[in-house]
Amino acid sequence: MRPAVIHKDLAALPAPPNPAMGWDEARGLLDGLPGGGLNIAWEAVARHARGALADRVAIRWHPAAGDVRPITYRELDESSSRFANLLRGLGVGKGDVVFVLCGRVPELYFAVLGALRLGAAVSPLFSAFGPEPIATRINMGRGKVLVTTEALYQKKVAKIAVPMPTLAKVLCVDSADFRAAFAAASPRCEVAATTPEDTSFLHFTSGTTGMPKGAVHVHGAVVMHCATGKVALDLHPDDVFWCTADPGWVTGTSYGIVTPLVHGVTSIVDEADFDAERWYRILEEERVSVWYTAPTAIRMLMKAGAELARTHAFPRLRFVASVGEPLNPEAVWWGMEAFGMPIHDNWWQTETGGIMIANTAAMDVKPGSMGKPLPGVEAAIVHRKDDGLEIVAAPGTEGELALRPGWPSMFRGYLDQDERYRKCFVGGWYLTGDLARRDEDGYFWFVGRADDVIKSAGHLIGPFEVESVLMEHRAVAEAGVIGKPDPVVGEVVKAFVSLKAGFVPDEALRMEILGHVRKRLGAAIAPKEIAFATTLPRTRSGKIMRRLLKARELGLPEGDLSTLEGGS
Ligand code: AMP
Repeated sequence: MRPAVIHKDLAALPAPPNPAMGWDEARGLLDGLPGGGLNIAWEAVARHARGALADRVAIRWHPAAGDVRPITYRELDESSSRFANLLRGLGVGKGDVVFVLCGRVPELYFAVLGALRLGAAVSPLFSAFGPEPIATRINMGRGKVLVTTEALYQKKVAKIAVPMPTLAKVLCVDSADFRAAFAAASPRCEVAATTPEDTSFLHFTSGTTGMPKGAVHVHGAVVMHCATGKVALDLHPDDVFWCTADPGWVTGTSYGIVTPLVHGVTSIVDEADFDAERWYRILEEERVSVWYTAPTAIRMLMKAGAELARTHAFPRLRFVASVGEPLNPEAVWWGMEAFGMPIHDNWWQTETGGIMIANTAAMDVKPGSMGKPLPGVEAAIVHRKDDGLEIVAAPGTEGELALRPGWPSMFRGYLDQDERYRKCFVGGWYLTGDLARRDEDGYFWFVGRADDVIKSAGHLIGPFEVESVLMEHRAVAEAGVIGKPDPVVGEVVKAFVSLKAGFVPDEALRMEILGHVRKRLGAAIAPKEIAFATTLPRTRSGKIMRRLLKARELGLPEGDLSTLEGGS
């Protein structure tokens, strides 16, 4: 049995962990606009381009094929200013929304930072979205300009069948026209005098059913990105940072764009999709020191085997973090094997705008736990009651994870859905929709989405716990667990598993896996059924879609599939 805690010798770490800091200290690390106000583009780029970091590489862009392109803070400032001037020429300003539908190309970063610079809001769209989800979001967000590429335009935008009445212009950043206009545009553009409460990003997130929700974020969120960059990601001035998330999702904007730039570090951007060998090569050759990735990627690396990792060396790698879905203890331990350090899980969601709960560099890691609330974050486990909330004090009790409102990157609304927004707040707390428990040391443990939890013979079963134990079996690559209605016990646990290369999905293996989980979890919690699947349905951001496994199992409507990987 592996120990429950990975203890750290802080004195032996390659760099002393950043000290904890609150919001006020983080504000002190930002400049604020020269004339007053706060703007993300100023803090991330413009101020550095006017100071000692002007010639530092801000982004090292790895194209899918071809040579790496380094982009300095000065160039990023000039290129995003050119973009801002082009947008201004189209009538874009404060209050407008610019949609961005691009792969991970430099122009995406110029467009996002250019729009923020003008005081316009940015709404990123994942480039694998099909025509329908694109049109739905542009119409919901009343998008004025869409920034895309010629290929994406032909493949997606040209096929949109519904009118998009607010959309005034589509810019294809690789067209000859755009290139000429970009080159001719002025590389100087003042930063708009936005306040901390002005809208910066509009992030669409999917509910389990119905229309997507547009979470509204503000420029003041940069205080959180500054603080969490230090405390949760342990960024130091000389770091080379790689966040593998796509900027179509909140992680890819908050931590793939804003946070590293605010800290003036060098950030890696890879245009290509996941490839184990390529990723190890980038980690090695770029001498990445802080790496922020996701469980789905880690599981794919695990599938490729730790031997592949050992053919590379990562002497500068100091801190590895993960977000997006539960990080199984197996994956944390695998980090020790592959990189010589644990993978640090952290928790947040689109609505929180930034990391809230984390295993930080300064903390011992409890594999399987999301860590502790960051300084300034107040988190609790609560039970909903008819007349409000009950705060659960006893350690180990499951309940809904709630946060005390007021952190700087908190979403300020769901666009046009005030009632839905209001319902998130009860008795002075924001309710996250996640179930969790807190242990006696103050670490939080993820149990499941409130709507994924299984009730069997009176027991509440978190799918994550069962999945983690399934993952311990040598043959299992991925697992997804659902509750299947049962006349006797309410729900029975059913597991879907995909196998590692070299294993055959036969009855003997099914019994072996069942035996393993029963031994570890007991018959009440272990799955009654195990089905083999070649792959599990996942969102494009990598989360296993349990609700879809369940809908398919039960022959129910599949609901909103716009975020399904491989869908359209
Ligand atoms: P999204 O808004 O798409 O970023 O999804 C947020 C949701 O992902 C959270 O509410 C959790 O259900 C899940 N999630 C994010 N990070 C973690 C984590 N470290 N452990 C478990 N679940 C997570």
